[in-house]
Amino acid sequence: MTVGRFAPSPSGRMHLGNVYAALLSWLSARRQGGSWLVRIEDIDTGRCREQYVEQIIDDLRWLGLTSDEEPLRQSSRAHIYNNVISELQERGLVYPCYCSRADRLSASAPHASDGRVIYDGRCRRLTAEDRHQREQSRKPALRLICPDEVISFADRHYGEQHINLASDFGDIIIRRADGIAAYQLAVVVDDALQGVTEVVRGEDLLTSSAVQRYIQRLMGYAEVDYHHLPLLKNADGVRLSKRDRHTDMGYLREHYTPQQLIGHIAHIAGLIDKEESVTLNELLL
Ligand code: GLU
Repeated sequence: MTVGRFAPSPSGRMHLGNVYAALLSWLSARRQGGSWLVRIEDIDTGRCREQYVEQIIDDLRWLGLTSDEEPLRQSSRAHIYNNVISELQERGLVYPCYCSRADRLSASAPHASDGRVIYDGRCRRLTAEDRHQREQSRKPALRLICPDEVISFADRHYGEQHINLASDFGDIIIRRADGIAAYQLAVVVDDALQGVTEVVRGEDLLTSSAVQRYIQRLMGYAEVDYHHLPLLKNADGVRLSKRDRHTDMGYLREHYTPQQLIGHIAHIAGLIDKEESVTLNELLL
């Protein structure tokens, strides 16, 4: 059975782009008679606010996009992520990294086109003695070794992808120095343990899917299907962000009914020919 999900980070109120991803993942799962889950990605407690968690849940309810299960909260699952990290560590696939942010920037290969920093792996080569010494003054992050290997997968929208783990990512952080599991690890563990079979989300995470697929393989998890959505742009052709006042849900709820907003998004997504009110059930027909 298809299991879809929407996994918002409560670091701000949802904007049109988030609602678009929520609606399209919901539609995809429901059209296949599958279930749909909401997961609150509040693992980064410094950036997330309880107020946004409540607003996200309320905004989804207002739209009629209801989760089949009580939304799962990443902030309550640290022990699960830590078990997976320990397993990877025991298998020799992880090493401690003592670099500060400044070191990391200077230790990086030319930046990827989207601004990602590719770490050169210098802490991988430290001796046990070096590690012991650095341990005295700094708590390390943990990095997953990303080999010179091409991960291929077919995205439902963007087609065949071939992404080299070493040159497109470098060794990624899976646990930050403050002990919090990194997004790339937590998302894979949760998708697997929740039985998610398809991931419909914004195109900004298309390349991350390669590293997520790699972690799925390492852990022997089922591989999920990916469907990335072109990012919505504002009138100036700039990608929408939580800073665009006119696209945040507070503004949208004052100016649209749920059916008008669903119709607006369905029209942008090319699901209906003209912009008009539409219900979720009508979109399912
Ligand atoms: N929590 C992530 C975000 O809001 C999305 C994660 C995902 O869909 O895989 O950007």
